[in-house]
Amino acid sequence: PEGFLSVRDLSVRFATEDGVVKAVDGLSFDVERGRTLGIVGESGSGKSVTNLTILGLHNPRTTTIDGEIVLDGKELVTATEREMEQLRGNKVAMIFQDPLTALSPYYTVGRQIAEPFIKHTGASKKEGWARAVEMLGKVGIPNPEQRAKDYPHQFSGGMRQRAMIAMALVCDPDLLIADEPTTALDVTVQAQILDLLKDLQQEFGSAIVFITHDLGVIADMADDILVMYAGSAVERGSVDEVLRAPRHPYTWGLLNSMPRLDSDLSAQLSPIPGTPPSLLNPPTGCRFHPRCTFQDRVGGNRCATERPLLAPDRSSACHLTAEQKRTIFIDEIKPR
Ligand code: SF4
Ligand code: MG
Repeated sequence: PEGFLSVRDLSVRFATEDGVVKAVDGLSFDVERGRTLGIVGESGSGKSVTNLTILGLHNPRTTTIDGEIVLDGKELVTATEREMEQLRGNKVAMIFQDPLTALSPYYTVGRQIAEPFIKHTGASKKEGWARAVEMLGKVGIPNPEQRAKDYPHQFSGGMRQRAMIAMALVCDPDLLIADEPTTALDVTVQAQILDLLKDLQQEFGSAIVFITHDLGVIADMADDILVMYAGSAVERGSVDEVLRAPRHPYTWGLLNSMPRLDSDLSAQLSPIPGTPPSLLNPPTGCRFHPRCTFQDRVGGNRCATERPLLAPDRSSACHLTAEQKRTIFIDEIKPR
């Protein structure tokens, strides 16, 4: 069965001066209402491009999109700009790392939260303002009647993030896309904002796509994980499955390059050697092969020539056998 948001075989290519960038290549995933999909990967993995494409925020003159993005039965790839504008802020909302990209310095916070509500529901200015105050209260801004009259610069970073969340949720969207929404915040505020998002999801029942490079945040927030590398998904599964028994060498590398979820920061971290590939000319075969230390176990030249595919459900796109994926993780990766 198709999810509430269903992405099928999505490919996104940009024309640049240097050639065609294959930013996303053959990506498929589903998100249900009330569930959170965490998309994780290094920068350049295609996770932000995927999100901008879902929102219709790509440049249509330089971007070629193939595949399907279906939201609640509506196909978005072929939707007009007008239809997308109607969706954005209404059915689909977004929160970004930097609230100042969403909030204008020239208008009060209350007015900016009220505006999408007025636009999409036809409410009066007075009703819009009341709704803005209500939303500021919901996201934990103290004294919301007063603070709604403030300008963004009068808010702290954490409060601006809360205001942006209030603005994103003001129309009760069915899908919320959050792209590194807490990366710029200190750990305490980050934890508060993540808790707030979880509470609001309970209340509003939206589907959330949560994009981050931080597996700790994913562990806390997501139900399911999609690991992306060089424009493709390399592993998918539930949070439990992927974090307890990851099956792809790239996911192993990500785990090793981050503080352990169950230990303090003193554990040794080893970054993945090498750099993400150029998407102008992606590697043949498995796109991870230039950085992978497990190619010998596959044998032959298979990793460099034959592209491993990701099956639906719990799966990893790697030529290692299921038994190898299990034993290598247990014997060689996990102990560290
Ligand atoms: Fe490594 Fe080969 Fe698996 Fe790719 S297919 S992740 S190169 S072992
Ligand atoms: Mg990004």
